Amino acid sequence: MTDNKITRERIGFDLRQLGIDTGDLIALHSSLKSIGYVEGGAETVVEAFLDVLKPDGTLMVPIFSFTFTSCDPTALHEPTKTPSRVGAITEAFRLHPQCHRSLHPTHSVGAIGSLAEELTRDHLASTPIGIGSPFDRFRERDGTVLMLGCDLTSCSILHLYEVLAGLSYIHIAYREGWNHELAMIGRDGKKVVGLQLYETPGCSHGFGSAGPILEKAGVLRRGKIGNARCMLFSSQAAADVLIPELQERPDLLLCNREECQICPRRRRRVKVEG
Ligand SMILES: [Zn+2]
Repeated sequence: MTDNKITRERIGFDLRQLGIDTGDLIALHSSLKSIGYVEGGAETVVEAFLDVLKPDGTLMVPIFSFTFTSCDPTALHEPTKTPSRVGAITEAFRLHPQCHRSLHPTHSVGAIGSLAEELTRDHLASTPIGIGSPFDRFRERDGTVLMLGCDLTSCSILHLYEVLAGLSYIHIAYREGWNHELAMIGRDGKKVVGLQLYETPGCSHGFGSAGPILEKAGVLRRGKIGNARCMLFSSQAAADVLIPELQERPDLLLCNREECQICPRRRRRVKVEG
């Protein structure tokens, strides 16, 4: 059965049914249209989460802008202006007056709540989704990852597990000949150029392979928000399962698409190391 109109109260009710409660730390990946017709749109979804998590909880959301100078030499990330490129809910979140956005030209995240400042500070001092990044701090606090109407191919924290597993392929760039040089506007309003990304969150088309492993280990929970199918899991429990698995099978999360620019090169690297 599908419902015609999904309200803020209904989303709050469904979140609690999934076991999410006040004080929780949640990272949300989302597809607005999967929920159905939401009264008030993406803003309603954001407020419904905050209703449930307040006053002590925290919601973290990717606000990735993918501003790669290698791809477009005129590209310039402006932290207060550059929109999110990962969905309507993430853009509504970015525009929320309480949102803290981390300073990062390609993989900034936003957070609202008690841990918002702690999760989002000093992002430039780490790598996009590597050690010391917001997703790593989130994992250290055993936050819960919620996939709302989307599958694991949107699950950014799997990139962190690739890093924590010590896979050498994370240093291989998106495309042959690209460097990882970036340009952005800093907090002081001045242009910063020549930033380097030393690890690249690569392709995530192969991330579905993690599903059966997490399922078998009993780490995945499932449910619904509105009409959207959801999955959720403890970020630390998933790390405990997937990191040893990746060390055993380093090509586990690489995709098999012929057109992929990065996975075949990463797979060759893994093979050479045998
Ligand atoms: Zn790929």
